Amino acid sequence: MFAIIEKTNNKIKAQRKVRFGFLLGGLMLLNVTVKAQNEPYNVILQRINNDLQTFVKDKALAEEVGNHLKNLNADGSWQDVNYADVQYDPLKRIKDMATVYIRPSNKLYNNAELHSAIVKSLQNWLDKNPKNKNWWYNDIFYPQAIGQTLILMRSAKAGLPPALENALIKRMIRKLRVGDGANTSDEALHYLYRACLTQNKATLDSAAKYLFEPIAITEGKEGVQVDGSYYQHGKQQAIASYGKVFAGNSVNAAFYLRETAYALPKDQLAILVNYLKNTFLKTIRGSFYDFNVRGRGISRKDSLSSGLGGMVNKIKLFDPENAAYWDASVKRTSGAELPSYKILSSHNQFWKSGYTLHLRPDYTFSVQTASTRTLRTERGNNENILGKFLPDGATNIQRSGSEYANLMPVWEWDKIPGTTSRDYADDNGATIKSDWGIPGTTKFVGGVSDGVYGVSCYDLNYDSVQAKKAWFFFDQEVVCLGAGIRSDSEENITTTVNQAWSRGNVISSNGTQAKGESEVWALHDSIGYIFPQGGNLEISNNPQTGNWYRINHFQGKTELKHNVFKIWLNHGKNPQNASYQYIVVPRIDAAGLKKYNRSMIQVLKNTDELQAVKHTGLDMLQAVFYKAGTLVANGLSLQVDQPCTVYIKDLNGKNPTLYIADPAQENATISVLLKLPGLSMSKSINCNLPNGAFAGATASFKIKE
Ligand code: CA
Repeated sequence: MFAIIEKTNNKIKAQRKVRFGFLLGGLMLLNVTVKAQNEPYNVILQRINNDLQTFVKDKALAEEVGNHLKNLNADGSWQDVNYADVQYDPLKRIKDMATVYIRPSNKLYNNAELHSAIVKSLQNWLDKNPKNKNWWYNDIFYPQAIGQTLILMRSAKAGLPPALENALIKRMIRKLRVGDGANTSDEALHYLYRACLTQNKATLDSAAKYLFEPIAITEGKEGVQVDGSYYQHGKQQAIASYGKVFAGNSVNAAFYLRETAYALPKDQLAILVNYLKNTFLKTIRGSFYDFNVRGRGISRKDSLSSGLGGMVNKIKLFDPENAAYWDASVKRTSGAELPSYKILSSHNQFWKSGYTLHLRPDYTFSVQTASTRTLRTERGNNENILGKFLPDGATNIQRSGSEYANLMPVWEWDKIPGTTSRDYADDNGATIKSDWGIPGTTKFVGGVSDGVYGVSCYDLNYDSVQAKKAWFFFDQEVVCLGAGIRSDSEENITTTVNQAWSRGNVISSNGTQAKGESEVWALHDSIGYIFPQGGNLEISNNPQTGNWYRINHFQGKTELKHNVFKIWLNHGKNPQNASYQYIVVPRIDAAGLKKYNRSMIQVLKNTDELQAVKHTGLDMLQAVFYKAGTLVANGLSLQVDQPCTVYIKDLNGKNPTLYIADPAQENATISVLLKLPGLSMSKSINCNLPNGAFAGATASFKIKE
């Protein structure tokens, strides 16, 4: 009984919205309301139509369309479009023409010449039937763009000739690539367009089914993983590359189909909301993506700009429960509020994808790694040509968000922030030789997390360089350790701390420290870098040149020159057991750095067998055991019988908590013997670890006196 009432209410709500929408559109009210009672097609079609017009700037678009009109040939083609290799044009132009034609607010509204140009160019498309070598255009972009144009023209005063429209609708028909993640939902979207245009129930049934099909947790296959990360092209982290397409399509589908019989089911809504809230939107700082989540898209211009306000505003309409969260996200990503606005401290260890994401109101710090279980960041279709070292512990450090935006064409690609690699004479050394993902080389890659703090590790063995790299995540700072750095290659081996836009001066103690004093520090763009043991530190704050084409053959060859801040440690040639330590302290100035209490951070061990850091201020210990062993340091003893990552909270308290994970994802049980300052006797704990899909996840144990 209750369910029926709820449905009726939804129906009434839907009708109200339709009525409102059409009043605005200036169309016949009565006719539409009656129709909406019988079927959802027009309701959905009108939502799509409105959505296509959301960000239209009338004046600019009228100008653009005016040019297209002027240059249109008598047969409906354009001189400057290569019809043998058609990409976005001419369909994008035709869609733009349809958009201005139907908008009463546009000066080309209802323009007769424009109408005939739309008809002619569509007929020309139909006759020419262009194809592209890349299936994506043929099977996704073309049918989507045609469907959008036809939907727009449905609200035109003078519509399209029915024979032309019918023929174009037939041209949209494609076979679905079922089970292909983001691609499936991309294709199902033009099924939805076609279903609305033809008012065909069978087409709408399959559109809804395949639009929502990717909204599921998969194990190891492409799509959303149990840890909340996203795979595409095999086991490759794709959170805001293909995962962005997945998010965008799923949100659109849920938005278009809301409050109809085809609305997104509750259990799938939970999966989508969780992905958006706890993974996807967290990778955006201010209005910019973390460069670690854009896959090979890192080599595209503007690929770090999120531009998500429109999408997030839609979520509110089908998930009003989290409205406050979506509102905050819109304000942050649009720049209406600071990047710190309503950011809650969190730490995510995505053990399926080798990705760690550490958020604080003041900064974002992420790490990307690869293992034998995953694929390294791909090169493909001649995109991301120089991204060879991206999965070797790349650290994305953001405050404003824009630290790396569009800097990639001038990046020195063997100095990706966070990575340890050979320093080649030129960037050819950073070329990825084969297309698509290449498997990682080591298995001990992962970390432990309590959701707010954690430690991550990466056993690097790539391109003739070996190192044990680890990151210890706290509130005010992140501690980065490297040990066992070895290489027999002829280049210098370097660990790059950062390579970001130069924003003002660099202040540094480098080269000025007193005799016997090892610590070196540097400060740039409100981020401090402390090197407690010094090291052969190099800093540059100079122009670098390059172009987009060298990293992506679809992009321009214009030479660019940008000022770049670059800071790295040089381990020299043939290092045999080199190490490094540095502390990244975001949101700090020179005075703050002077006052910053270094003694809070105690690096207890930094070898190729064990790396451990104690934070006395937070009273916690984090450790990476690359081998079974014992850590003994000022009053504590921690013994493990298997390699693992360990984190102990309330170290000196009466009730500490032990968090433990196996980065190799191999052990069912790890035995821990613990003697802590606050406990009167030692404790032996048999830690049963998560298994199956959850192998690599963190287990926690409360320790009691
Ligand atoms: Ca170099």
